[in-house]
Amino acid sequence: MYRSHNCGELSALNINEDVTLAGWVQKSRDKGFIIWVDLRDRYGITQLVFDEERTSKAVMEQAQNLGREFVIQVKGKVIERASKNPNMPTGDIEVLVSELTILNDAILPPFTIEDKTDGGEELRMKYRYLDIRRNPVKNNLIFRHKVTQEVRNYLSKEGFIEVETPYLIKSTPEGARDFVVPSRMNEGQFYALPQSPQTFKQLLMVGGMDKYFQIVKCFRDEDLRADRQPEFTQIDCEMAFIEQEDILNAFEGLTRHLLKEINGVEVEKFPRILYDDAMRLYGNDKPDIRFGMAFGELNEVAQHKDFGVFNNAELVVGIAVPGGNNYTRKEIDKLIDWVKRPQIGALGMVYCRCNDDGSFKSSVDKFYDQDDLAKWAEVTDAKAGDLICILSGETNKVRAQLSALRMELAERLGLRKPNEFAPLWVMDFPLLEWDEETERYHAMHHPFTSPKPGQIELLKTDPGAVKANAYDLVLNGNEIGGGSIRIHDKKTQALMFDYLGFTPEEAKAQFGFLMDAFQYGAPPHGGIAFGLDRLVAILGGQETIRDFIAFPKNNAGRDVMIDAPAPIDDEQLKELSLKLSLEL
Ligand code: ASP
Repeated sequence: MYRSHNCGELSALNINEDVTLAGWVQKSRDKGFIIWVDLRDRYGITQLVFDEERTSKAVMEQAQNLGREFVIQVKGKVIERASKNPNMPTGDIEVLVSELTILNDAILPPFTIEDKTDGGEELRMKYRYLDIRRNPVKNNLIFRHKVTQEVRNYLSKEGFIEVETPYLIKSTPEGARDFVVPSRMNEGQFYALPQSPQTFKQLLMVGGMDKYFQIVKCFRDEDLRADRQPEFTQIDCEMAFIEQEDILNAFEGLTRHLLKEINGVEVEKFPRILYDDAMRLYGNDKPDIRFGMAFGELNEVAQHKDFGVFNNAELVVGIAVPGGNNYTRKEIDKLIDWVKRPQIGALGMVYCRCNDDGSFKSSVDKFYDQDDLAKWAEVTDAKAGDLICILSGETNKVRAQLSALRMELAERLGLRKPNEFAPLWVMDFPLLEWDEETERYHAMHHPFTSPKPGQIELLKTDPGAVKANAYDLVLNGNEIGGGSIRIHDKKTQALMFDYLGFTPEEAKAQFGFLMDAFQYGAPPHGGIAFGLDRLVAILGGQETIRDFIAFPKNNAGRDVMIDAPAPIDDEQLKELSLKLSLEL
């Protein structure tokens, strides 16, 4: 038996018991005649004590030679501590050691295994197994486990069946590049790793599984943006014989369950907003609604004066910053510099102070009188003491810029509280999205998403205006889930591929299996997938998803611990019938 107890469970109740503990040496303090050692395992820390009077000379000597992170086993008696530590669950006791076995020694770790470590991110990634010994990382992994347990419990209770789908598949175009895997047995042919189990879950519906879920790895070979992982985990779900409303209810239920069980937060029915309204009011399809500062469109009240900048703009739009009239001129100038940074790209910013006496003072007083400015305040819902910030230009650009400013200001004002949760459904996304690069329409969600009833005809005349039965679940400004009601008949699916620019041959080659399946009685179906990594991070009140992944990749998509990706040797290449060529 390696241990009778773990390092987190002994208390005053155990005083005088003989115990055996095992773990890692967190630190030791050697006063010569007395040595204290903090022994650590997953469950906590227990203080060990060795002293000249009560510990044998041999054990004393062993204790003197213990280094950080040595793995040891001790036998001893639980005694009351002279100076108690109320901040530690085991702080009332210590273990007077009579026997010490060194199970393994350890070289000095490259960073301190403390809650606040001196190790930089890259170093911690390289020695992730040491990082995992630290409470913040360990606790995040335990937290993630709790979330996935709750997901499984809830969905199982609701009648969902967890089914595994294959990892070695064929490309499904979902916007990103596939990771490909050469097949040794099929010379010159490749599998692709799934970007999501999308087509398989639809086939499970054709197969009559009715309610499916899977906590599943997905792979996307995207250019890495901050805090994206090339492999990530989804809670992937699909249901048959449902309408959109059923899906929203089912997964609102799941989210509410998680918020309650994990965070102890009860949330009312989730608000819903149309995609078009989200863009108009927040400039963003994943608005953070923990705070207001909704956009006010000012074209009507700000154009047709003599201010050319506004007159020439497609959109003039502003937000009221609560209490912003306190900002000094210098602070406002800094804000203007902030929106002009290349990352944001605004050409400038007009502002208007809302004074306590009800008067206004704007940066464009030359063109606008008090009555005009009062209208600006009305449209942006600005109160006395606020500052109205206004941007203008091309609609999409200006919305994105003001959205960035809104988030930045909310952050500065402390309005993005990590322990406040504001979920929101964003509904009726456009079916198609214009891609500048390829100069054609792409499916905004994926090609299996159904258009809103009665809109399929519009595809011919105004494809950009067609809305989809697609929805996203947004939490605190992050998209945590997205899904749609699917097309479930061969004819519509073929039409959709046609509009997306697939020839019938290409459609058949890539998705013949799905269209074939649709001929054998496909039920109406739809689903959703949650990004588990992000969901866990948000529920945990944190920003970085890497902190909730046991072995994450760095920002360049590398695993710096195992040093992957890496070249393979010529033999392997040959076996796979591959030749590396630098000529493209
Ligand atoms: N497969 C989709 C995705 O990964 C989710 C869904 O439509 O259910 O975004």
